[in-house]
Amino acid sequence: MNIRTIQAKRILTKQKRGFLAEGVYPYTHTLSWAAGCGFGKIYCGAYCYAQKLPNWFYNREDGEAWGDAVIIKANAPQCLAGELAKAHDRRSLRIFMSSVTDPYQPLERRYRMTRRCLEVFAQYDDLDLLVIQTRSPLVIDDLDLIAHIPYAWLSMTIETDCGDLPYGPNRRSIDKRFAAVRAAVDTGVRTQIAVSPCLPYTDTFADRLIASGAHKIVVDTFVAGDGSAGKRTAVSPFAALADYEWRDDDPARALHDTLQARGVSVGWSVDGFASIAPRQGHDSIGANTNRL
Ligand code: SF4
Repeated sequence: MNIRTIQAKRILTKQKRGFLAEGVYPYTHTLSWAAGCGFGKIYCGAYCYAQKLPNWFYNREDGEAWGDAVIIKANAPQCLAGELAKAHDRRSLRIFMSSVTDPYQPLERRYRMTRRCLEVFAQYDDLDLLVIQTRSPLVIDDLDLIAHIPYAWLSMTIETDCGDLPYGPNRRSIDKRFAAVRAAVDTGVRTQIAVSPCLPYTDTFADRLIASGAHKIVVDTFVAGDGSAGKRTAVSPFAALADYEWRDDDPARALHDTLQARGVSVGWSVDGFASIAPRQGHDSIGANTNRL
């Protein structure tokens, strides 16, 4: 894989429209310290919508496919420190890290970009929300630090409990992610599981999700969540691999409804991702009343 570094002008990207700017309690910004993703060649790279977005297109070199390169914004922690210091209303900031890459991809072991950004966040106690979205159990290295950021949530992707789908994660990966969720909860980190996109699952998935200890669960599908009602997914390599009707949202809806009936805090697609209410005392931050 090609690894390059660049200097960014800014690291917080304002959300004016799109998935994260919708929902009941939208995000104000995203933070992605890389273009490209080191997980691009594994199963999720086959349907990853991030390879269609400008962050990748403007930074890749000719001939590079998704997963061939990661371009690191090497000054991301310094940019973040400057932007948070100058923010005129830090209390309103609701940040999603990351929307177009994974903050705990394998390169994080060497570069510790996410950790260094978290160290910047840890200097402030007045932001409204930071969601750390990953599919990687490497996050356990930083749980103590995350637990000390009063507005931080971990969101761990676990798409299924089936470890033998030809287009999904293996059993070891699933087990390690459930173990990371348990470790996060035990460390005092507010933790969400993102069943996103929901892949075929076994009869005991709901039980396992509930037993994980996660505080909240989001269920999402290709049709509800790929930003194009499934059109992007239809032309992805995943669509050729999938041996089931991936356009059918009913199994995911059934999982959502089962969890809800069992008293779990569970949300659906965009409304689930953007459903973490403002912190106490941050009441001036408006809800998206169109979605209430
Ligand atoms: S980890 Fe996320 S950003 Fe990376 S390839 Fe998979 S879906 Fe895309």
